[in-house]
Order: sequence, then C-alpha cells, then structure tokens
Amino acid sequence: MNELYQPIETLAGVGEKRAAKYHKLGIHTPYDLLFHFPRTYIDYTKPVMIADAENGIPYAVRCTVVQKLAVAFVRKGFTIYRVVVTDGLTDFLLVFYNTPYTYQMMKPGEEYYAYGKLTGGFLRREMQSPQVQKVEHALLLQPVYPQTTGLTSQMMRTNIQRALMYLAQQPFETMPPSLMQDYQLIPLADALRIVHRPDNAKELEAARHRLAFEELLQFQLGTLMLKQRSSGQTGIAMSKSTTIQDFYDNLPFSLTNAQQKAIHAICRDLCGQKPMNRLLQGDVGSGKTAVAAAAAAFAAKNGMQTVLMAPTEILAQQHMQTMTDFLAPIGIQPVLLTGSTKAKEKREIKKKIADGSASVVVGTHAVIQKDIEFASLGLVITDEQHRFGVAQRAALAEKGGYPHKLVMSATPIPRTLALIIYGDLDITVLDEMPKGRLPIQTFAVTGGYRERAYGFIKEHLDVGEQAYLVCAMIEESDSLENVQAAESYAETLKQGAFSAYRVGLLHGKMKPADKESVMAAMKAHEIDLLVCTTVVEVGVDVPNATLILIENADRFGLAQLHQLRGRVGRGSVQSYCILVTDSKNEDARERLKVMSRTTNGFAIAEEDLKLRGPGDFFGHAQHGMPPLMQAAFCSNMPLVSETQMAAKQLLESDPELMRPEHQPLRTAVLQLFAKKGENGLN
Ligand code: ADP
Ligand code: MG
Repeated sequence: MNELYQPIETLAGVGEKRAAKYHKLGIHTPYDLLFHFPRTYIDYTKPVMIADAENGIPYAVRCTVVQKLAVAFVRKGFTIYRVVVTDGLTDFLLVFYNTPYTYQMMKPGEEYYAYGKLTGGFLRREMQSPQVQKVEHALLLQPVYPQTTGLTSQMMRTNIQRALMYLAQQPFETMPPSLMQDYQLIPLADALRIVHRPDNAKELEAARHRLAFEELLQFQLGTLMLKQRSSGQTGIAMSKSTTIQDFYDNLPFSLTNAQQKAIHAICRDLCGQKPMNRLLQGDVGSGKTAVAAAAAAFAAKNGMQTVLMAPTEILAQQHMQTMTDFLAPIGIQPVLLTGSTKAKEKREIKKKIADGSASVVVGTHAVIQKDIEFASLGLVITDEQHRFGVAQRAALAEKGGYPHKLVMSATPIPRTLALIIYGDLDITVLDEMPKGRLPIQTFAVTGGYRERAYGFIKEHLDVGEQAYLVCAMIEESDSLENVQAAESYAETLKQGAFSAYRVGLLHGKMKPADKESVMAAMKAHEIDLLVCTTVVEVGVDVPNATLILIENADRFGLAQLHQLRGRVGRGSVQSYCILVTDSKNEDARERLKVMSRTTNGFAIAEEDLKLRGPGDFFGHAQHGMPPLMQAAFCSNMPLVSETQMAAKQLLESDPELMRPEHQPLRTAVLQLFAKKGENGLN
C-alpha cells in the first residue's frame, strides 16, 4: 500500500478541517503535498547582531535566553509573554501575545534562532511575535509556504515532513534515465526532499534546477504535442478572391501598418486547408478589435460565422459596441449573448445562430461554450486580455469541425519567450500604436510626495476626470494581505483626503459579479476614485480615467506596471501615471525609471526579461498559466531553451510519449494540461 496516494486525512495531524483547507489548494494526497513548493525561505545562515539591525524589517538573529519574565495578564483574553535574550552584545526582548507555546518551550541558558521585526530602542529593543527554533535542530533555510488562510507554514512543514518519510520508503521518478544523465539532473525524490528541507543553498539550487527543468520540459512537451495534433487536422478553406474593401472604406480611421499586416496574415490563414491557430498580441490600445472585425468580415463574405468571446460580460458588451460600429455599415449585424441575456431573447438569438442568419456572435466564454449550435462556424476569436492558460487554449471551441482560431492577448511578451509559451500558435504582433495618441506621462516619486500627488489627483477629479489608486503589498492579487491593505486604504481615503469624492473598492477576493458591477459603476462615472489591488479588470475601457497612482511600485514587475498603466490614456485627454516607492534599492529605482522612459510594452517586457529573468513570465497562476512554481524562480533563459531542445528531441523519437520509460512524463504532461477540469490533451 503506498501511503503517498491515500487521502490527505491519513497523514498524522491532518483532521477533517485541515484536509478541507488542503483540498481548496488542490492538495488531496501526501503526494500532492510534496509538490506544494515553498514560496521562499527564511535564511538563518547569516544571523545579524541586534546593534546592526533596523526597526521594522524582519531579521534572523541567534540568541541565548537570559531570563523569562513573568507572564503579564493585561486584561481578559490578552496575555503577554516576554523573554529576555542576548546576542552576546545586546540584550533584547522576544515578545509573544496570547501564544504561550514558544515561551513555555524556551529555557534559560539555551540557544535559539529567532526571526521577526524589531521595534523600540529607547530602553531595550523588542522582537514582536518572532518565529523561534532551537539551534540544535534548526532548519537553517526554513521554508515559507504560499500564504493560505488557516494553514500556517509551520503546519505545512510538519505535514510535509511526514509525506517525505513516505517518499523515502518508496521514491518515484518521472524522468527517463537518459535525460537525467544528459542534463545532469538529480533524482526527483532528492529534489523534493531538498526543496522542503534544504541543508544549504548549493543543494537547494540543484533541487530547484531539477524541478524547474521538469516543469518547463512538461510545459513545452504539452504545447508541442498540441501543435502536432492540430497540424494533422483539416479545416475550412475560404476563398482567396474575397475582398473586404467595403470594410476598409467604412472605417473611421486608416489602419496602422501593423494592423494591415496582421489582417493579411490572418486572411491568408483563413484560406488555408489547415485550421488557423494564431495569437494576435498587441498592447492595450493597439487596435486588436479592428483586426478581429476585419477577419469576421472576411469570414462572413465566405458565408462563414464568427464568434468573438470575451472573459467578462462588460468586455463582451464593449466588443459588441465596437464590432457593431465597424460591421453594421457593411450590412453585418452582430448579436450578443451573455449571462444576462433574457431567456426569450436568447432563444431568438440562438435560432439566428443555428439558421446562419447571424454571422457574427459576440459573447462571454461561459455562455458561448455551452450549448450553441452554429450553422457554419468558421472562425473563433477569443479575447483573453491576460496571458491565458494552455487548458483554455486546448479547449477552444471544438464545435463544427475545426474552425480557425484567433486569440487576442494584451500582454506583451518578448518574442524569444512567446515562441515557447505559445509554442502551439503562430504569432502576430501589433507593435505600432494608432497615430495621434498622447503618451501617458509617468513619474516615479517617494512616499514624501504622496500628499502632493493626492492634490494633483483632486485637481483632475474636480474637472470631472477619474482615477485609479492601486494598493497591493505583494503581487498575488487575491492574497488576504492585499485585500486587507486595499480595504483599509480605501477607508482611510474616504475618511480623510478624499472624503468629498466617491471612492470605490475593487479586489481579487470579490465575487465576479461584484467586480463587474464595480467596474460598470466606474465606467458610468458613479465612482471618482477606484482603490484596487492589481485586479483592475484588464481591458475595461474607461476613457475618462486619466490618472493612476501605484503604491509600492517597486514590488511589481515592469510588465505588470505597464499593464496597470494601460488602464489610463484611453481617451483624448493627457493621462498620468504616478509610481510611489520608498525603496532605497538602486536596482528598483532604476527599473522604475524604465517606466518613465518608454510606453512601448514590448520594450518594457524585454527589459523585464533582462532584469528579472523569464520566471516572471511563467510564474503567475492568475495570468492563466499553469502554476510553474519552480520555474517562477528561474532566472536564466538558457534553461528555457535547454528544455525546449530536450522536449523536441523527446518528441522526435516518441511523438506521443508512448514508450514505457516515457509513461510517467506523459502522465504528468496530461495532468498539467488538464488543470481546471478542461480537457487539454487527451
Ligand atoms: P485593443 O483591444 O488592442 O486594446 P482596441 O481595439 O480597443 O484596442 O482599440 C482602441 C481604440 O483605438 C478604439 O477606440 C479603436 O476604435 C481605435 N483604433 C483602432 N485602430 C485605430 C487606428 N488605426 N487609428 C485610430 N484609431 C484606431
Ligand atoms: Mg481590447
């Protein structure tokens, strides 16, 4: 019996309640738990001396207990436990509130590591609620797991240790021996043990390398296999002699060169036997919708239907408006299908789609993917806004034979990486903005300028413009930390500086419907200032918003700052972006300067790749990528190309990974591409 694959409840110390929390993270067995990797490590290898430590920043120190002070019962339900310790030079206090355990464990004369933030300084400094471990059996690189309500890193460390014992009894391996040898990879069981309990930085690096290699390899195997399969399909070839001159003639502007090139590439694909699989990448405002409309016009002239899918209702409505503006003048009337379409109307629209009288259908993914029958579906366009996941990509409309597929994304990704991340797609880039746009003016300032910045924002609100204020502690948009920060920031502004204005709040933990109604209110100018975490619905067009202020700007990647900045500058009025940072770090400040210098998303993405490595482009589940945890830490492009080469070699010799020695890899790839319950590769 292999304990690794039993329900997680079978682990000692995991009851029903904790199991439920693990299930929420997608962890159902001890095996799954082993692949729940630390977010970072607390480094105890270089403890600091208290005299050298600043207040407010967490430090690891090594100290000996001098004396345990008497427990202070301040009032009912509030008890303070204090221990006087010394680092050899300076005495200081470890202070615990309402938690007796560590206090009880500590003994005078014994040595401990403590990790926490310092306060005070007048008489004696204090470390508040520190983490403490005994020196003898300390983990010098102590794993910290991604934050989850009700599951502490300490609990996870204990549970994982048990899972590691099971692993030691029955190690498993996914990599064929030849690959392990060629690329000098350590065994999987070793790598798993080490990431969860590293002895030193060097072995941790080898373990992470092995895990990152594997994640990237699986990812690339998956995309390459998708590509292999789609190349064997035959689609609907449209007529090369089709003309859409009337479409061009009726546009209110002339297309950019980039748009024209994109339209040519797409129409050429539409006339091919093989179904198109193309990604249209272009910065916010580069005019992707006009390209989509041209493609839809081309298909309509061939008697084929086009569907345009958007991730949210409000985006679908926006697209409906634009498509109608572009297509109605040439006699094509798009129809709209979303969650809020009334039943009766929905029936009528579905009828029009089924009998072919509606040639362009706009709607939300959810609605369209359900039970719509098309008369002759020729082209499926998805507007993903964000980067999007392999599973969604693979699940794209398997309706009516093999329609041509076009995916639009507003996230600029450097070409070298795009070829890998979107290895199954052909890529077209809109790298040119329509003429006559006012570039957004960007400033990086320190917190000392905040009041002046508020004043500047108010001047703009007073003349009827709107603003965003982004407040996030860390990048993961829906972390509890961020939600709390945004909530209290919004409250402070409502009570204080912006009490005379309508302040709204948007964060990642809100229900989709609530998010949409806030965005709708913003669009309808029922909100002047929207406080938000990084969720600000990408792609929602509020042309009246002219200002965005981003707190803690140094904590974000440039690409993400660029996305955020793209919320403004969508109208004809001059827009501004204010980046606030108190970081004293030179690199961080240098990065922010890049933002002031350029508004070209691709240039910024290249810069991000240089400065932060490719990890950023792989790391965030919120972008719809599978969560490549280890790859997120990977800072070298060579690893990315190395794994691409390995993937190609493997598939050349065994296109479907059917050989016995490739079975474990095949299974892993299928799992990776089937995340979110959609069938990517089966
Ligand atoms: P994207 O989806 O790429 O962010 P949109 O397609 O929404 O951009 O276009 C942004 C705005 O620019 C729209 O109002 C659109 O009508 C306009 N637009 C698109 N192409 C051009 C062009 N070539 N010249 C001027 N305006 C354009
Ligand atoms: Mg758009």
